Amino acid sequence: MTTGDGAVVGTTQIVNNGPRTGRWNVVIMGDGYTSHQLTQYRDDAQRTCEAFFDTVPFDQKASFINVFRVDVRSTDSGADDPAGCGGTGATARTYFDATFCSNNLRRLLVVNQNTALAVADDEVPEWHAVLVLVNSTVYGGSGGAVAVSSLATGAQEIALHELGHTAFGLADEYDHLASCEEEGHDDYTGAEPMEPNVTKASTRATIKWRDQILQSTTVPAMRNPDCSKCDRRPSPVPAGTVSAFEGARYFKCGLFRPEYTCKMLELGRPFCAVCRRRILRTLPTTVPSVRERSAAAAGTAVRNAGLNPRFIGSTGSNAWVFSQSPAAGTVVQAGSTVTMRTRTGPIP
Ligand SMILES: [Zn+2]
Repeated sequence: MTTGDGAVVGTTQIVNNGPRTGRWNVVIMGDGYTSHQLTQYRDDAQRTCEAFFDTVPFDQKASFINVFRVDVRSTDSGADDPAGCGGTGATARTYFDATFCSNNLRRLLVVNQNTALAVADDEVPEWHAVLVLVNSTVYGGSGGAVAVSSLATGAQEIALHELGHTAFGLADEYDHLASCEEEGHDDYTGAEPMEPNVTKASTRATIKWRDQILQSTTVPAMRNPDCSKCDRRPSPVPAGTVSAFEGARYFKCGLFRPEYTCKMLELGRPFCAVCRRRILRTLPTTVPSVRERSAAAAGTAVRNAGLNPRFIGSTGSNAWVFSQSPAAGTVVQAGSTVTMRTRTGPIP
């Protein structure tokens, strides 16, 4: 039940795309693997890693991502599975103390986050995201300070969904917590959620992802006609349409999601456009070349790369950029500032 129930064996970098500074560093660790099961763990970690790089939009940013595998052995195999949740009642002595049934939901699989973060700090101090694979085939996962996934069918999808919470601050987009029949989840009346992929706003002018909604799209695309029931009608618009769809973040009404479906709603689906943009704005990016471009065009190029433009000098219609910092091609964290000095007049 504690770090006395195992040990950190060692760390291997399984994907190396450059220096840890300037790259996005993912750390995978395992819980409930005995020393004899570490070979299996390495295969599980490898499969997860491959699924990660096969997923949009991570595939577009592969060269900015490093992956590290921390091998941890546990005394026992598996995880605690309390009978109170319908589990087997099994207990397992494991290093990160993985257990199902957090918040009385069997699928909510958690580990000791402080232990996992401490191991990450020791092994890969430059980490950005920690994922713990739990050696159990019971369905489960969670996304808090660390992402947790079991080895249930579709485990890689669970891991990607939980990383959506942990690394990118994405909300669950589904419309119930335990079931569609539960009490207290009919109509949301709280504050505007902070996550980028859910909102209580339902008009084009107020929805936080309004710049991703086409002028020709109806807003909202779907409202739930009966807030006592989950709305399971088919989408009235083509897949991939960004608008507002009622039912999100455990409520049947009063909260909207950006697309009809998304990996934050159901496994096996792509991340929706709003979630993809959040991910891309979090990962490192390359500074574009803006020298000798007009100030307007340079600003657009910088913003399109997920960076903030800062001009020194005029930004008028005849202004152009004569120097930039950082230099073009530099890898920086998304959201970084690119400073550009401008001049006016013809480009010599
Ligand atoms: Zn989404």
